Amino acid sequence: MAQSMLAHSDTSDTDPLFGTYARTPQTFVRGEGVWLFDEDDRRYMDFVSGIAVNALGHAHPHLVEAIKAQAEKLWHTSNLFQIDGGRRLAQRLCDVTFAEKVFFTNSGAEALECAIKTARRFHYDQGHSERVNILTFAGAFHGRTLATIAAGGNKAYLEGFGPPASGFENLAFGDHDALDAAIARDDCAAVLIEPIQGEGGVRAVPDQCLRGLREACEKHGVLLILDEVQTGMGRSGHLFVHQRVGIEPDIMAIAKGIGGGFPLGACLARADVAAAMVPGTHGTTYGGNPMAMAAGNAVLDIVLADGFLTHVQDRARDLTQSLGALIDLHPDIFTEVRGEGLLMGLKCAIPVSEVVAAARDKNLLLVAAGDNVVRLLPPLIVTRDDITFAMDALDDTARSLESRRSGDSA
Ligand SMILES: *Cc1c(COP(=O)(O)O)cnc(C)c1O
Repeated sequence: MAQSMLAHSDTSDTDPLFGTYARTPQTFVRGEGVWLFDEDDRRYMDFVSGIAVNALGHAHPHLVEAIKAQAEKLWHTSNLFQIDGGRRLAQRLCDVTFAEKVFFTNSGAEALECAIKTARRFHYDQGHSERVNILTFAGAFHGRTLATIAAGGNKAYLEGFGPPASGFENLAFGDHDALDAAIARDDCAAVLIEPIQGEGGVRAVPDQCLRGLREACEKHGVLLILDEVQTGMGRSGHLFVHQRVGIEPDIMAIAKGIGGGFPLGACLARADVAAAMVPGTHGTTYGGNPMAMAAGNAVLDIVLADGFLTHVQDRARDLTQSLGALIDLHPDIFTEVRGEGLLMGLKCAIPVSEVVAAARDKNLLLVAAGDNVVRLLPPLIVTRDDITFAMDALDDTARSLESRRSGDSA
């Protein structure tokens, strides 16, 4: 009995890794700029960027140099001691944003955990321990920890993991009445929102809604937490989407692009909000370690350099135009262009997994999102020629899918 319970359900599965990912059976051994190379030295244009992470592409010389130099000096000391690179990176982030204080983490979900804790602790500090509720929106993605799956509210991600963490209320996307009611309640601590839902299908929140949200938060003494983990660090063509929109959050979670591939996230906050996070309230062993700080500072060197964001905007314009032309050419495959900057999506008329697989056959790597959308997330260093290559590959992809489907129906 005990033995049968312990028996493997599938004895042919020899993969020692958790089966949490349906991985493509493909291994890359090296990267260079926008290109990834497999074991046979076949090259693929990388419009995934490790899911919006490799902002500077692969093996960017400045990043490689920074990591090498730091690796030869010092890797880790813990937050028991001062870390110069961390003070510098935090100061630089504060100089270019609303923020006055920064907490470094190793991932996006951890940055969100810090943001959530900071929001609740702020209210607690103000004598409002009843303000614990965080409002979020259907289709959101904030990570895979127990708190962030509760925040995201995606049933599939919550199933089987016991009672969801309490203090989160997931509202329908665009339901202003529900929002107005929930935000006015005494237990409301914060609104947490992605300016553009990435995993949810590249769904942008209209600018006027973000501005309205900012006003509503102000009116009810509720904090606004922005999740710019995917949209931030220049991907939208602006350092952060909210800066283009002209609003400021009280707290912001970032990650992905900031490390350029080195695990790094951060929670940014106004000083009066962060003041609640006193010694003992939060911590991390690795967060903000010298290696991650070297990576983050090196990424900032490039992203903040003159002309970089203009370059992103220019390439984004090229990409948007090409995608518009592509959906006109292939209306049975692609139906809608979404997104901003180099966070673009194509809504598909056929299963998105088929598009991703067919594009891979044409040496173009893409990543699926929710709502049957395929995402195009090129490294921010992408050139006009790279975009031409990718659009030709996508045109070929659509043609092969069309001929396959007309073959199917014949
Ligand atoms: C990826 C992502 C996260 C989670 O980041 P991890 O590093 O995977 O924990 C959170 N929010 C958004 C918007 C993301 O895109």
